[in-house]
Amino acid sequence: MIGVAILGSTGSIGRSTLEVLRRQRDHFRVVALTCGRNHAEFATQVEEWRPVFAGLALPGKEERWPCGPDVLIEAAAHPEAQIVVNAVVGAAGLDATLAALRAGKRVALANKESLVMAGDLVTQAACAGGGEVVPVDSEHSAVLQCVTGRDSGLGRLILTCSGGPFREWPAERVHQATVEEALHHPTWRMGQKITVDCATLVNKALELIEAHYLFRLPYDALEVVVHPQSIVHAFVEFCDGSVIAQLGFPSMELPILYALTHPARLPDAGVRRFDPVAAGPLTFEPVRREVFRALDAGIAAGRAAGTAPAVFNAANELAVAAFLDGAVPFGRISEIIDGVLQAHRPAAAATVEAVREADRWARARARELVRST
Ligand code: NAD
Ligand code: MG
Repeated sequence: MIGVAILGSTGSIGRSTLEVLRRQRDHFRVVALTCGRNHAEFATQVEEWRPVFAGLALPGKEERWPCGPDVLIEAAAHPEAQIVVNAVVGAAGLDATLAALRAGKRVALANKESLVMAGDLVTQAACAGGGEVVPVDSEHSAVLQCVTGRDSGLGRLILTCSGGPFREWPAERVHQATVEEALHHPTWRMGQKITVDCATLVNKALELIEAHYLFRLPYDALEVVVHPQSIVHAFVEFCDGSVIAQLGFPSMELPILYALTHPARLPDAGVRRFDPVAAGPLTFEPVRREVFRALDAGIAAGRAAGTAPAVFNAANELAVAAFLDGAVPFGRISEIIDGVLQAHRPAAAATVEAVREADRWARARARELVRST
């Protein structure tokens, strides 16, 4: 029985992970659960799964469980956990990713922000502690599934992108999009922050940076194509021009299960069997880069490296929160990100403190830009 710790168990990925584990009780047991909010649901989960450790990462009125950010570290380094599913949203997930890797765990990583903020530190922590990062993100899971067992000649990755709810909207209308419109993703049901990131295409920039660190490819070898049906999750091109892709109906349960079992596989009776006819016509189109400018801003931050990706991430987190609060229009998100990156002088991201400092600086700068909106 493999012990699994789930950080962020009440979120979209956290719940899907428990859904997957409910069908795999012979192979895995839940040893730790943590969540931020949603205490009522958390209580139900703890009741069902009886983990050895349960804690709340954000303080609340509850007194049943330990509270505070250290809870994430405790769960991430729990001696009975071999796999840590990091399904926390945002920069709050970084320390847990590092702690789990240093403790030699497999990190099934949904929290892409960790890798974006501190890709080199995450890689070093894995080397030092003997841990490994296995992606949960569907595009990266697709790439991993395509390259596993084919260990030479990797050339280029093309990640697919649904295009988000505003794929075909005129630029002026996108700028004024409401919160409700931004939260209406065409193919995936996810947490609010990533859903907004899909609408701005920030998510795809985060994913290119994530792919850069996971698969050790230069940015010139990483591309994006819009694929509204979300059936093909990624294309992998090898040096001889051959292309392998991974397909499936959009569901996070398959990439979650694969992150737990990689490089092996387990049968899953709960998966919707693939049917090419039901999948319908598959179409591909270029990204409208002049409308969704955050994509190129994010790629530039990735190329600049050092603290720039952490600044990109932090500016985005703050701008998205401001948008969800009604403080800025949708179009301001990418302008704020741009403004913060323009003012940033990238430094080395050699320590967690340097990354945190860049993150704080970027949030402060972004807050000023929100105020001046
Ligand atoms: P979500 O908002 O649904 O869930 C987030 C979870 O983290 C919740 O359990 C919440 O209580 C907890 N949390 C929130 N703030 C916290 C904090 N400060 N400290 C500790 N815990 C906190 O988010 P989600 O959609 O499940 O996404 C989680 C991560 O997975 C994100 O990084 C996202 O980019 C990534 N991801 C999600 C999907 C998806 O389908 N939802 C797909 C790919 C990647
Ligand atoms: Mg993804």
